[in-house]
Amino acid sequence: MSFAFTTRLPLSRHEVDRDHARRGADGFLESVRADAATRSLLLWKGKALVREAPLSTHDRIELDLRPLETVPTGDFSLYLGLSLAQDAAEPAGTPLLAVILGDEDAVAVEPDPHRWIGLRDAATATSDRDAGAFTEALAMVNWHASHAHCPRCGAATLVEDSGWTRRCPVDGSQVFPRTDPAVIVLIEDADERVLLGANAMWEQNRYSLLAGFVEPGESLEAGVIREMYEESGLVVTDPEYLGSQPWPFPASVMCGFTARLADGQNPDDVVPDGEEIIDLRWFSRDELRAELGGVILPGASSIARAMLERWLGEPIELPGETHR
Ligand SMILES: [Zn+2]
Repeated sequence: MSFAFTTRLPLSRHEVDRDHARRGADGFLESVRADAATRSLLLWKGKALVREAPLSTHDRIELDLRPLETVPTGDFSLYLGLSLAQDAAEPAGTPLLAVILGDEDAVAVEPDPHRWIGLRDAATATSDRDAGAFTEALAMVNWHASHAHCPRCGAATLVEDSGWTRRCPVDGSQVFPRTDPAVIVLIEDADERVLLGANAMWEQNRYSLLAGFVEPGESLEAGVIREMYEESGLVVTDPEYLGSQPWPFPASVMCGFTARLADGQNPDDVVPDGEEIIDLRWFSRDELRAELGGVILPGASSIARAMLERWLGEPIELPGETHR
């Protein structure tokens, strides 16, 4: 069995035109705010307002996109683009604005905490448009939160371009949004076993693919080989790119690769780095299926999960998870 890998990445879905050509124009954000058709995606502490609190993990989740006249101005707002979804409530072409609320405003809009949902929980239960808009909004909000000051002189920077750049009022320098590439790697040995590791930060018995940040001045492929050696002591080769998924927790894009062991590399010579990775295990497909109730595998919103399902050749169904 095979299926399209990239269609199984919940946070890679997008159905919003980011409208790059118009968003940088002077006064554009004000015109969006004045447009009665504009709908707001409300964010509070990284969570989005949804229409109904989900009662179970199988419930669909819809963003509660509200007309601007019904919501507070918020701490700041950011133009997301034009919805492309054929949706009765918000037809294609609807301008979308992320509005970031402080505590008081958020509670005034919706006091029920269950109507504020995090992206990880919403990821597999939303439409393509909602998943993409929420991912875009959260990634940008996280970038703003950590770039309030000029990297050259330290002055407080000002938001421009409908929320897409910041400028230093002292030296005029512009700062653009950044994202941090990380590689995540499915290593297979000659017996078609996959390597999974347990991270020191995780709950006991949780295993996933090995991953790490790409360093400045390094290709993704070199990052694969270096990170896998650092975390496992294994020399891998032939990294092949599979696909990517934004992961705004807080600012990553996960780049998925496969790799194989270098010639002469014994799979038994695994050495967990002991700091980040505390255990490493090889699983055959049958062993992984047999362990589904025992080991805890990566969540349904992660690229690691999609990579494991691709390798296994079938979806992994775990209790208590939403499936698209
Ligand atoms: Zn400056």
